Amino acid sequence: MDAFSRYCKKCVQPDTRPGIVFDAAGVCSACRAYEVWSRDDWDEREKELRKIAEEAKARSGGGFDCAIGVSGGKDSHFQALYAKERLGLRALLVNCVPDNISDVGRENLENLVQHGFDMISLRPNPKIERTLSKWAFYKYGNFVKPVEYALIASTFQIASKFGIPLVIQGENPAETLGVIGFLDVGGDASGWKNASTLEGGNASDFVQDGIELKDMLFYQFPDESELINKVRAIFLGHYVKEWSNTGNTEFAVERGLKPRPGHDPVLVGNINPYFSIDADLKLVNQILKYYKFGFGLTTDEVCYDIRCGRMSRDEGIRLVEKYDGKCGDHYIQAWCEYIGITEEEFWKVTDRWVNKNLFEKDTSTGKWKPRFKVGGC
Ligand SMILES: [Zn+2]
Repeated sequence: MDAFSRYCKKCVQPDTRPGIVFDAAGVCSACRAYEVWSRDDWDEREKELRKIAEEAKARSGGGFDCAIGVSGGKDSHFQALYAKERLGLRALLVNCVPDNISDVGRENLENLVQHGFDMISLRPNPKIERTLSKWAFYKYGNFVKPVEYALIASTFQIASKFGIPLVIQGENPAETLGVIGFLDVGGDASGWKNASTLEGGNASDFVQDGIELKDMLFYQFPDESELINKVRAIFLGHYVKEWSNTGNTEFAVERGLKPRPGHDPVLVGNINPYFSIDADLKLVNQILKYYKFGFGLTTDEVCYDIRCGRMSRDEGIRLVEKYDGKCGDHYIQAWCEYIGITEEEFWKVTDRWVNKNLFEKDTSTGKWKPRFKVGGC
């Protein structure tokens, strides 16, 4: 066994991912969850999904049947079009516009709406978003944490305000990433309200000088009393056999989704040109994740494909070694400019978050290098 981290015997998920559990056979909770998810009871699940859809139609009172939080990316396209075309639901799309949204992000949103949807775009106060992002960089080494709150909670706020009986989320991280904790495996997404990101917590954690809780309405779930028996939330990915990372991408591309222009895995740390295309600066956060836990976006990406048989484990390891933790300097510079710090300061703070069990400094280059062997166990 590697002295610093161990890897799932089936995929390349390391045991350093927060919330992951390995069983006695050395297999991670995501692989085990996938085995359960992919078992052949699809007729049963589709029946359940159709029942949920019909209940929503019956309860919507002529208004919207469901609300779907969308970024305009691959999963958004799949969710929205599946709800509309396969389930016959009248959907209200809810987009929480990221600060610094990319041009291709705008185009993809427009492409989605042009398939015949109503959409509400929310723009959380950019001054607050920027302040929170900077603060979370220093406090958590994870600057997208506050933004994730808004992405998830805002759809519930809109559903509650419009009396929409159903919120359709994408995939359940307990099933696809193996994150054990606040969410149970299955189709029920109501657990989101217990923790607005994979790391838990709530918006009251962000109260600070100049920012009160009431300034962060869209970062908070509505009161329990506004949701219970009024708004149901499901993970579409649990019920639908066609749901997969690559499958959703292929589906969305056929329906007009555009990739990040000039995609280069070395610049974005990921092989998928359709990941987080609306918000480039989020890519910088992956550097912090990489140095904290020893894995990045490519690991996430290949694990999906290995699990569903689209990629061999060896090929996954090769790609992870090549691209994980990579990020173009121009993204880092743009991020530093955004929050008003120097690059030197960025690396000084990042150094603080480096897991010294996983990385050591290369004295010749001054850069951190892995002490672990990807996939080794
Ligand atoms: Zn695994």
